[in-house]
Amino acid sequence: MPPLSALLHPRRLLAPLALLALSTAAWGQDYAFPTSAEDYPEFYPTAYKDNGGTTDWNCGDITYTGHGGTDLGVGSWAGMDAGRDVTAGADGVVVATHDGEFDRCTTADCPGGGGYGNYVQLLHPDGKSTYYGHLRQWTVAVAVGDAVSCGQKLGEVGSSGHSTGPHLHFEVRNSAGRSEDPFDGPCSAPPTYWVSQGDYAALPGLACEGAPACAPSADLTCGASITTRSDGAGSTSAHAAYGCTTWAYTGAEQVYRVATDRDEPLTLRLSGLSADLDLYVLDRPDCDGSGCLGASDGPDSSDEAVTIEARAGAAYTVVIDGFEGAASDFVLTVDCAGGWPAGLDGGDGSDSTDGTDGTSDGSGDGASDGATDGAADGSGDGSGEGAADGGGEAGSPAADTAGGDGALGARKQPGVGCGPGAPLTGIGALIGIFAAARRRRR
Ligand SMILES: [Zn+2]
Repeated sequence: MPPLSALLHPRRLLAPLALLALSTAAWGQDYAFPTSAEDYPEFYPTAYKDNGGTTDWNCGDITYTGHGGTDLGVGSWAGMDAGRDVTAGADGVVVATHDGEFDRCTTADCPGGGGYGNYVQLLHPDGKSTYYGHLRQWTVAVAVGDAVSCGQKLGEVGSSGHSTGPHLHFEVRNSAGRSEDPFDGPCSAPPTYWVSQGDYAALPGLACEGAPACAPSADLTCGASITTRSDGAGSTSAHAAYGCTTWAYTGAEQVYRVATDRDEPLTLRLSGLSADLDLYVLDRPDCDGSGCLGASDGPDSSDEAVTIEARAGAAYTVVIDGFEGAASDFVLTVDCAGGWPAGLDGGDGSDSTDGTDGTSDGSGDGASDGATDGAADGSGDGSGEGAADGGGEAGSPAADTAGGDGALGARKQPGVGCGPGAPLTGIGALIGIFAAARRRRR
């Protein structure tokens, strides 16, 4: 086995350089997803900025005509009533606020705030502004002139102003007041304004600019078995949300980097637990809620397992984390099924590529099903089903929640969006969405 440094995907090596360039260039600040770690799993995109012709940044149609911001749903009125945090995407100064408006607007034309209803505008050092619109009544927590830090609470999600249902309208404007798309894609102008943009129809990462990525305590590969403790040597307690599920973890986590030199199924197994630790596999090192490939979140001290279709040379981030007070010894093993070294078998390679989605869907679905049903070992079933059928199981609430085929398809809520006449919005079809079953524990 070659040293891991030789196995790293080129993208991994380039990332630090790109960040360095961004921090010193005139491109300015990048944004964290504007909510708390606790509420992050509740959000999902419902409409992106319209880049012309009702086309979003990825050349899809998740937008409506003239929409100037990004709409982020939280699960209908129940989600709003639970209190979903809106936080500053980056450091800045409060330059405008408005509060006191009715916050259960469904007509898209409730008055106040110039269409934003209750809102906060931040000015950032690079001259750009961010707007946080349609907030819940009397939740605006900052005042004009306040200096705020990335992640600081500004208010809560509501449905005030030109809104049809509870959502956050997050909008970036340049120093000339023109709306810009924070997402970088084939139908928008680069660069991305997110610290970690994440995938289409998923969420940008939660980490603020300059926040530390996960710190792996060891590099592992096929056949590895490591015995340690979740709060032992090498552990951190810096990360809370990893995607794939709705949990937010406040306990200590252990992080490993795993790679193989072949395209093959790779199974991570977690055993020997005396507390409720869960297992996540990510395709990137950020640990900011983006890039989740699979999760196993069985109850109590049940064993956990996640299978992914590993790509030769790619590095994966494996996280073992627990809730407040959950700490335990554990054994983590890395099982590789065996496969062809990259480039030796083209057919197998394309199969592996196709299989990646299916397996990662399956891992997440299976794990969640297992947890929901109380099955002792949902993870093994999940992996198998996922690989075989791509993680279908439509109709299972758990499958909907953890399904990997897009937040939009899985998490729907009726009538959420900015309405006609909202700031920089026009008349257009709203994205219909309905709430998926949801569960949560702390
Ligand atoms: Zn909007």
